Amino acid sequence: MQWLNKQVRPEILRLAPYVSARSELADSSGLVALDANENPWVPYPQTPEMNLVNRYPDPQPANLLGRLATIYGVKADQIFVGRGMDEGIELLIRVFCRAYQDNIVTFKPTFSYYKVAADIQGVETRELSLGAAPDFKLDIEQLLALCDEKTKIIFVCTPNNPTGNSLSLAELEFILQAKPEVVLAVDEAYLEFSDYPSAIALMNKYDNLVVMKTMSKAFAFAGVRLGSVLAQPPIIELIRKVMAPYPLAEPCIRVAMQATSAHGLQLAQSRIATLIAERTRVLAELAKLENITVYPSDANFLLVQVEDAAKTYRELLAKGIIVRNRHRDIPNTLRLTIGSPVENDLLLAALGALETINKPQRVATVIRNTNETKILVEVNLDKTAPINIHTGIGFFDHMLDQLAKHGGFSLNLQADGDIHIDYHHTVEDVAIALGQALRQALGDKRGINRYGFTVPMDETLASCALDLSGRGVLQFEADYPTTLIGDFPVEMVEHFFYSLSDSLQAAIHLSAHGDNAHHMVEGLFKACAKALNQAIKQTSDSLPSTKGML
Ligand SMILES: *Cc1c(COP(=O)(O)O)cnc(C)c1O
Repeated sequence: MQWLNKQVRPEILRLAPYVSARSELADSSGLVALDANENPWVPYPQTPEMNLVNRYPDPQPANLLGRLATIYGVKADQIFVGRGMDEGIELLIRVFCRAYQDNIVTFKPTFSYYKVAADIQGVETRELSLGAAPDFKLDIEQLLALCDEKTKIIFVCTPNNPTGNSLSLAELEFILQAKPEVVLAVDEAYLEFSDYPSAIALMNKYDNLVVMKTMSKAFAFAGVRLGSVLAQPPIIELIRKVMAPYPLAEPCIRVAMQATSAHGLQLAQSRIATLIAERTRVLAELAKLENITVYPSDANFLLVQVEDAAKTYRELLAKGIIVRNRHRDIPNTLRLTIGSPVENDLLLAALGALETINKPQRVATVIRNTNETKILVEVNLDKTAPINIHTGIGFFDHMLDQLAKHGGFSLNLQADGDIHIDYHHTVEDVAIALGQALRQALGDKRGINRYGFTVPMDETLASCALDLSGRGVLQFEADYPTTLIGDFPVEMVEHFFYSLSDSLQAAIHLSAHGDNAHHMVEGLFKACAKALNQAIKQTSDSLPSTKGML
């Protein structure tokens, strides 16, 4: 990377960065820490969340870098993690750009903070206007023509905020090749919502490429402030040289470790999928309106053009909805963030695209982590698919599949338990989490019913009567001819329904009579599913109890 030393500010190359006593040791754990003038006690309120907040945090925590490296497919020494991508943008400009001499190049409209950060540093911003709607096309030759020998960084945002369109890898590669001694900083704040591949794929081919990531949008982490700069190690080392001594707060590191765990990633993925589906729906509904033009988007927002942006903005605000007026960038445009299905319905109704607001879908997500099991459950009582179940116990998966399929609800259930010891914890904890999720999704239970069902399965007769009464009771009667189905202990079935009735707070009466344990268990799950199916259907708007609540 010969070019690097020529482009970096000379005083940053020479800079002796801040060092702490601990940062000079490879491993400082277990030492009596009298080096940093910290307070030895955990402060009020002394909850587990407060552990370690009396200590200075690791400036670049290895465990978090490891997680991010896996997620982004780079090495830990190719990441700087800081307080949001915003900090990465500032530091990049600080490393490369001399005040009153150097410049950055970008296009407009785009994310406004590149220019703000450059202004703060006394650095000129050269901007090329994107082409007209609806394509908002970037003329790359013209962008390159804005560069001179004082250009240190080219910022591009893809998918772009606020136009929602993307650059291809071929276009990025064209810039990287044309200006091999200028940093190309690619802002991928919204890439998780798009079908385009990440520019990270080009990182090992072009050492002038910097990719910037944030957890604010796709990971729902806007309030935590975490973002990354990905680049070859020499650039990362320079950024670490100029970073604040301890950029990341200890509680932020801790919640980031949880959010990037396997369950955290699963939840984020499923929410990204929901937002993408909602984007499609909102776009289709808005496209039906005559007085609105809506542009396609690869991000979690839609840019729309209306007759009078200021007026529409005020009308929405009067209805309690705030959107972003982008009139200054593109005449009469508003940027609409895709929210939850309910929020989107409110927006659509306010814009006249929905006559009546759909009833909110009855959904719930429960994550249950213990030392023995880690469980994610997502249910949607108003959808029958998808059904996705993995507990590591084949027979149990099959029974849960019956429960969701015949219960008529969508279920994503992922359990990672200590089944190498035995099945007990996993079966029990799945029942608890599933019951919780069903109860949450039922909400105030408006319009639901109390039901029962009997199923014959060859020689077996299984019955279930079920009342979502708010009180957990199980009556269970089954005389199995064997104690095992495959390697599954049949006694766990009663335990499953006991835990389910308890966490769902339902009275469940179950019985099975027959000669084949497999039929009996399957019959019990099916009968319960059928009873649930009837019970959770919303057939009216009234509460199914004379008490007015359940
Ligand atoms: C939101 C946004 C960011 C900011 O990311 P933070 O990590 O929250 O600082 C960066 N770039 C674009 C294009 C954004 O829209």
